[in-house]
Amino acid sequence: MILFKKTNELQQYLNQCGQKEQSLPFRSRAANAFGNGTQAGIGFVPTMGALHDGHLSLLKTSTRETQLSICSIFVNPAQFNDPIDFKKYPSTLEEDILKLETNGCDILFLPHVEEIYPDGIGKKKHYDLGYLETILEGEFRPGHFQGVCMAVEKLLFIVQPDKLYLGQKDYQQCMIIARLIQLMGLEKKIDIKICPILREKDGLAMSSRNMLLDKEQRAKAPALYETLIFLKQNIGKGSLADLKKEAIHLLQQKGFKPDYIEIADAKTLKPINEWDARTNILGMVAAYNGSVRLIDNMLLN
Ligand code: AMP
Repeated sequence: MILFKKTNELQQYLNQCGQKEQSLPFRSRAANAFGNGTQAGIGFVPTMGALHDGHLSLLKTSTRETQLSICSIFVNPAQFNDPIDFKKYPSTLEEDILKLETNGCDILFLPHVEEIYPDGIGKKKHYDLGYLETILEGEFRPGHFQGVCMAVEKLLFIVQPDKLYLGQKDYQQCMIIARLIQLMGLEKKIDIKICPILREKDGLAMSSRNMLLDKEQRAKAPALYETLIFLKQNIGKGSLADLKKEAIHLLQQKGFKPDYIEIADAKTLKPINEWDARTNILGMVAAYNGSVRLIDNMLLN
């Protein structure tokens, strides 16, 4: 694995790979990355570090499907609407590097904030994300998705991947990034691959933020998953509005502070009130477990 901290150095390396230079350490793989074949192209896995098996599942899929897998670790300050959340975001860089190396990552891009935002993060561009950024995560974390787009646009511009690996765990973010790629005019160039949610044995969706849970909070944390299972088991048995109310009540009883529980059309994320067997329905939940905000989702039919 090669580690790059500087944008120009990574770009120069990728350009050289494209030109099939002889002297590169990954010459045979990397040069092939630009050719054809079942494993063609560059796969990209953007992360914020504090890596777990969920992240690694994205990387493993990339190594199976592409010739060159690039991961980035960048804790993007622009997407944190809460500065305390940013400050306490976990970091386990040494372990991350080891995990990436042993799971087939070819290149780690580890930029400093100034690499991604040479003009500072105050200089904000506006992305037309439509209604998607006014609902759910967008509603409860104002500005979050604009910040996500600022970093992801820059990363995509630098890496120029053929395949982009994202997790269903951040369902709405996947839709936002698909929109961003459309806005960048790259929808024909970048293939988005959405990978399933990896869970702990007790159902808790893996998340870097799980590291912030104390023992008691960790023991309660599978309640989000259990709430989604409750929705799945009871969908169609009564009104969806009542079902959501019950689910919120269940989470509150377990000591959580829910931001939302929503039952939405999986294609549009628009809330649905009537159950329709032909529509793919997604259950989504965001709730505070103490001071740690967790999210999860599940297809309900
Ligand atoms: P993050 O580091 O939280 O920004 O996540 C980086 C990528 O990993 C995103 O595409 C996430 O959706 C994905 N991811 C996070 N948690 C999981 C999980 N439990 N299973 C699969 N993918 C995940």
